[in-house]
Amino acid sequence: MRHVSFFCLTLLVSLGIFSVMGLSAMEGRKNIILVPVGQVNEEVLEKLRDHMGRVFNRKIFVGRGMPEPHYAFDRKRNQYFSSAILNTLREQKDYMASERVLGIVDHDLYVPELNFVFGEASGREAVISITRLRQEFYGLPEDSSLFHKRVLTEAVHELGHTYGVGHCKNPHCVMFFSNSLMDTDRKGWEFCPKCQSKLRELLL
Ligand SMILES: [Zn+2]
Ligand SMILES: [Zn+2]
Repeated sequence: MRHVSFFCLTLLVSLGIFSVMGLSAMEGRKNIILVPVGQVNEEVLEKLRDHMGRVFNRKIFVGRGMPEPHYAFDRKRNQYFSSAILNTLREQKDYMASERVLGIVDHDLYVPELNFVFGEASGREAVISITRLRQEFYGLPEDSSLFHKRVLTEAVHELGHTYGVGHCKNPHCVMFFSNSLMDTDRKGWEFCPKCQSKLRELLL
């Protein structure tokens, strides 16, 4: 399996290119499973389930949750290693029947090269952290609707990678890479026309 990696200040993703065998094995399994990894607010999962189906034209399920990812915790950094969580998601037989797997974590994530990541995608799995998407994380008053919009934006971005859509130069496209939450808030969760048509082809 070959990997093309995207590095950016706050995101690291690797886009898997499936073997012909892998693709044929997945035909007919047109659903996306959302997996809470550790304790995750149910409203987050419900809102994602309600909105993502329209974006990807797939059935969205909330899967059986996974335990707290203690194995991924780095005591020195006080953060969780996102690639370790991705590997665990990949190994779970329960999720193999789904076309794509999105893990949702309420812990700060990192990869060794970066201070933190909002999410990571590799192959058919992706993981996002919702921790830094709350206004309270920055000492600001809670804003529930902004928080859920950010969660959807990060989820769509990472899942977009799993379907083969790379980063986009359009700052109003969900596939633009976020250097900061300002970028995330400006771009929102919608694809630009170019990425939308690319996605449509890839989803066939
Ligand atoms: Zn990205
Ligand atoms: Zn785009």
